[in-house]
Amino acid sequence: GCGICPKKCPFGAIHIINLPTNLETQVTHRYSANSFKLHRLPMPRPGQVLGLVGTNGIGKSTALKILSGKLKPNLGRYENPPDWEEILKYFRGSELQNYFTKVLEDDLKAIVKPQYVDQLPRAIKGDVKTVRPLIAARSELGNLDEIMDALELNHVADREIAVLSGGELQRFAIALVAVQKADVYMFDEPSSYLDVKQRLTAARTVRSLLRDDDYVIVVEHDLSILDYLSDFICVLYGRPAVYGVVTLPSSVREGINIFLDGNIPSENLRFREEALTFRLTEAGEEYMTDKARAFSYPSMKKTLGNFELTVKSGDFTDSEIVVMMGENGTGKTTFCRMLAGAEKPDGTQKVPAMNISMKPQKITPKFQGTVRQLFFKRIKAAFLNPQFQTDVYKPLKLDDFIDQEVQNLSGGELQRVAIVLALGLPADIYLIDEPSAYLDSEQRIIAARVIKRFIMHNKKTAFIVEHDFIMATYLADRVIVFDGQPGIKSRANKPESLLTGCNTFLQNLDITFRRDPNTFRPRINKYQSQNDQHQKLAGNYFFLE
Ligand code: ADP
Ligand code: ADP
Ligand code: MG
Ligand code: MG
Repeated sequence: GCGICPKKCPFGAIHIINLPTNLETQVTHRYSANSFKLHRLPMPRPGQVLGLVGTNGIGKSTALKILSGKLKPNLGRYENPPDWEEILKYFRGSELQNYFTKVLEDDLKAIVKPQYVDQLPRAIKGDVKTVRPLIAARSELGNLDEIMDALELNHVADREIAVLSGGELQRFAIALVAVQKADVYMFDEPSSYLDVKQRLTAARTVRSLLRDDDYVIVVEHDLSILDYLSDFICVLYGRPAVYGVVTLPSSVREGINIFLDGNIPSENLRFREEALTFRLTEAGEEYMTDKARAFSYPSMKKTLGNFELTVKSGDFTDSEIVVMMGENGTGKTTFCRMLAGAEKPDGTQKVPAMNISMKPQKITPKFQGTVRQLFFKRIKAAFLNPQFQTDVYKPLKLDDFIDQEVQNLSGGELQRVAIVLALGLPADIYLIDEPSAYLDSEQRIIAARVIKRFIMHNKKTAFIVEHDFIMATYLADRVIVFDGQPGIKSRANKPESLLTGCNTFLQNLDITFRRDPNTFRPRINKYQSQNDQHQKLAGNYFFLE
């Protein structure tokens, strides 16, 4: 089958229910024979932010490379690529003709915040290696100090970029683009490694670059952030690594709904078998709530170098998911490690010994061999268990790369392997540190569902650190809010209800959420909008229904 629709289609890759018939005449680029093919292109609009959403491997970065002028579109003719004259003729009559004419005449300067910020330290040439001088050297808009402040880069201003953490590198990369004068600004996955507060700042920084006559394009997997920063949206669908199709532009709400529904009403086209939803419980999946077991931990302190974490005592039960929310550097990972017994509290306090399985935040596999061999070695019983196969293994789509070397996996593939490894070990408590990292929006929703179903069906407890707010609120029964000064002195509060926890957390961030009435998707209110003001006055920063 094609992997997309329930019919066993003999045509494999090409089959989509009602695939547009004219697609073959709409090839924008093909890398080589039998390689990935991109159909159509998104067209940015001056003075607006264009958001792109779609699964990994569907052509988003390829589209950005073409629109930035870095990749010359070959219209599918990889053996005999057309010249620009012919390309312009192909786009005649569309906005893209005008756009590419300007790109060609060098009238448009395009800059890109690359997807893989980890590669920046190697990519930046020259003698200057530290944060502020690198940004200052490109500063043209007179906003250097403002950007350094907003993106929290002052404390690393003199550090070499080779030693920056993922989140620091991301903010550095965004700053590098945001101080330059350009006609086209592109941000490929700006929220990776950032906490919720930093994601909002990044979104505001992106929007601050809008002028009447420039173009801004963003690829983003955190749907609240995509929603918040875009003015209009193009969805990319198709079959990852095989082909991708760009939809016509839609409003933000409509575009995200198209992506979630897997259905384009105006084209009468369905590209995914089932819709992705955010109902707190799935239809027909009422979980048993007789909580048989109770656990607790005492008030604790932990000092690590200059950092001090205070943990308020708390308790939890089986069949419960507790989500940890808080800025980077407030001790969420440290707390997980304390529960797991990997870090001891200061003084004589003791964490009760609990049977724990943990998915660490940083995934650095040393295993030599295939994914299948790894599963046989570490979680053989679960891997051979039909229930585990149905509930965990199959939905996460590991079959696609089960016989590949672990060392060759992409970030998103490794993350799914790590989730399966953690859930595959027998334990009472599952600690899952940042499961959405490297996953696309679709994989995030699937992973959240898998984790929730696993915990509830097996009557376990999960503690989950998660910055994607949609995923966090979907998962959480209760919430631990971390506050204080990141990296210096912070506090883990007692577990509280989803509603009160999110209220506290969002109040600290000065933002409010509402819920989309049809899809139940949480949406950030525009700052100072009527909804925003009303909800703040009433103290309702977050809504359950
Ligand atoms: P996305 O950004 O949506 O994850 P990309 O545009 O990076 O997707 O990639 C789409 C597909 O094209 C992937 O299967 C990728 O492996 C392939 N691809 C990307 N760059 C090249 C290249 N230079 N040569 C061949 N294939 C490529
Ligand atoms: P979070 O997971 O909330 O981002 P962490 O628990 O990873 O936060 O880290 C909290 C703070 O403790 C950070 O400032 C980090 O640099 C610091 N820290 C973590 N481990 C150590 C250590 N072994 N020695 C010194 N400082 C540490
Ligand atoms: Mg990409
Ligand atoms: Mg952490």
